[in-house]
Amino acid sequence: MNPKRAIKKVAVIGAGIAGLSCARALQSSGISVDIFEKSRGPSGRMSTRRTEDWSADHGAQYFTARDPRFIQELQDWIQAGTADTWSPKLKVYEANAWRDSDSQEARYVGTPNMSSPGKYLTENLSIQYERTITRLESRDGEWALRCSETGEIATLYDFVVLALPAPQVSALAGDLDPQLAYVTGLAQMKACWTMMAHFPKQLSEEFDAAFVNQEIISWVCQNNSKPMRQGKLVWTIHGNPSWSQENIELNKEEAQTQMLACLRSMGFDCQDSEISMHRWRYASGGLNNPIQFLLLPNVNLGLCGDWLNGGKVEGAWLSGLELASEINNGYKN
Ligand SMILES: Cc1cc2nc3c(=O)[nH]c(=O)nc-3n(C[C@H](O)[C@H](O)[C@H](O)COP(=O)(O)OP(=O)(O)OC[C@H]3O[C@@H](n4cnc5c(N)ncnc54)[C@H](O)[C@@H]3O)c2cc1C
Repeated sequence: MNPKRAIKKVAVIGAGIAGLSCARALQSSGISVDIFEKSRGPSGRMSTRRTEDWSADHGAQYFTARDPRFIQELQDWIQAGTADTWSPKLKVYEANAWRDSDSQEARYVGTPNMSSPGKYLTENLSIQYERTITRLESRDGEWALRCSETGEIATLYDFVVLALPAPQVSALAGDLDPQLAYVTGLAQMKACWTMMAHFPKQLSEEFDAAFVNQEIISWVCQNNSKPMRQGKLVWTIHGNPSWSQENIELNKEEAQTQMLACLRSMGFDCQDSEISMHRWRYASGGLNNPIQFLLLPNVNLGLCGDWLNGGKVEGAWLSGLELASEINNGYKN
């Protein structure tokens, strides 16, 4: 690889909020960008599950905005109708008792779904969905990509951005650079069991969402309390990170049974429920000491994602932006 060569064509792997933010910033500075995403749509863990009669955000539940650059981006999303404020009636459940939460944090959600800002960001970007990149190969200073669906990608790239959770970066590129292997090895990502449930007998008006402490569950939320949600009233319930990590290999039925028992002990009426479960292998966490992004000029690789920058939506977006800016500053002719 020759780090001095001008970067003209970049492959971004992963169309989560970090990859999309990076791709947009690179493209707006005149670099040609192709994005490859293994799922059928964008947004990664800012995701929504839809069925015929309900939908529910089952990854990120809301996000906060503190950095002026992200606040400005959020204003753009709000103006475009793709995000809005969410002011839930919040409770806390702890030591077998409910209390009101005194959290005053400003919270935001995608509208009409959590995946909406990601979709909005895809405008004018070149994205190929259902392309799981399985191999990167250096060829005369350029990168060749292979994917499991179609084999070798026809285009060669000057630079590759890996906008993936740390364990997926490690699996794909851990043998390509020792610094990459070291940094991904430091990241501690935890799993999350998620339940989406319609509880026809549960009273809905008492609270919109609750932080749950000292139980196997850590969060319950009425999806319909968020702006522009439609359909049946569905709750999103997250297992706590430690319990989820320890129990991630349970089958869905067993995880469901344990989470339902916990909900009942909290006073939920779970009779006649309709339930869908989701297993997130890499939901949260990352580096204890965030480094924002990782640029590897000697091999023309860059890493961005929440795990490098605090483990949340805002950090992921900023990570992509900052990596793009560094590629532009250091590399472009
Ligand atoms: C259950 C849960 C609850 C959360 N709650 C909150 C919250 O309340 N507030 C908050 O701010 N954040 C929350 N988060 C975290 C938030 O969702 C993430 O910080 C953010 O969405 C991460 O974005 P990202 O782009 O870094 O990664 P991702 O969104 O994970 O994007 C990575 C993308 O890469 C794709 N991919 C993976 N491997 C390959 C491959 N080999 N080839 C091609 N594509 C690939 C994936 O399909 C995915 O689309 C939560 C996450 C989860 C799972």
